[in-house]
Amino acid sequence: MWTAPLVFELPAFLMGLLLGSFLNVCISRLPQHQSVLRPRSHCPGCRHTIAGYDNIPILSWILLRGRCRHCHQRIAWRYPLVELSFALWLTFAARTAFPLLKPALPPGPFVVLLVDAAGLAILGFLLIGLLVMDWQTHTLPDAFTLTGSLIGLLLICVRAAYLLPHQYDLLLHGPNPLTSVGGALDQGNIVLTGPEHLILGRLYAMALWTGALFFLQFAYRTLRGREGLGTGDIKLVAMITAFLGFWLSAFAVFLGVTLCAGYACALIARRRATAMTRLPLGAFLCIGGLIAAILGAPVIAWYTSLF
Ligand SMILES: [Zn+2]
Repeated sequence: MWTAPLVFELPAFLMGLLLGSFLNVCISRLPQHQSVLRPRSHCPGCRHTIAGYDNIPILSWILLRGRCRHCHQRIAWRYPLVELSFALWLTFAARTAFPLLKPALPPGPFVVLLVDAAGLAILGFLLIGLLVMDWQTHTLPDAFTLTGSLIGLLLICVRAAYLLPHQYDLLLHGPNPLTSVGGALDQGNIVLTGPEHLILGRLYAMALWTGALFFLQFAYRTLRGREGLGTGDIKLVAMITAFLGFWLSAFAVFLGVTLCAGYACALIARRRATAMTRLPLGAFLCIGGLIAAILGAPVIAWYTSLF
């Protein structure tokens, strides 16, 4: 068992630090509509290009004591925090892929495990990035939300291609192996095959969420005469749904809205906000999405077991 950290966790952590560093570049530049590839990283204070040895995730920040080498301006603690957060997230995602180490895993389950772990990793990258961007700039760039939705759907298509025969079929009369007429494997009994059920179900869930939230946005605008729900928030929920499906995104939205309401109450109680204050709902939806991705499946299993 001691080999597992060496095989998966340590490389995932180091890779996570590097990708977290790139995520910081995305967070700084996407809200400003700047390219994330060019120019090279530079100090926002003195515009000095940051040398490679000063750009090592976390370590450089600690060695430079959180200041630019040239102008000594403070470097926000957001940089090491994002790097560490994504490194931990990627380590967690890699852990879910431990069964890949089993010898002679059939190709189907192998691909499904790989796709699930990759989906978890990508969703974490997008949500951590969007969380910080929404919190700091009140923007949720399409480059993350729309691209993320497409990636989520693509992963679902790959997963659908590797379903076992009749796995996840949508049946008219339910699986009853005793009768021949309308039996589980009777072609006439299958409403949607497994892959159709999975892909169409995901698209349907996204359409349902987007439609409901656009209606809410429209109703709020008509009744109150001002913007309540941002279109970026709607695209964010669509993205979470593409990755996690209907019920887990419902859990994410429930958590996000609850946390945001709690935050609003805390602000109002401390007289730091009024009913007109703009809240970073998207950031809280991201937190909800991250929690749902980790805890969602056990929570939903517990909830459905109550009935
Ligand atoms: Zn500087």
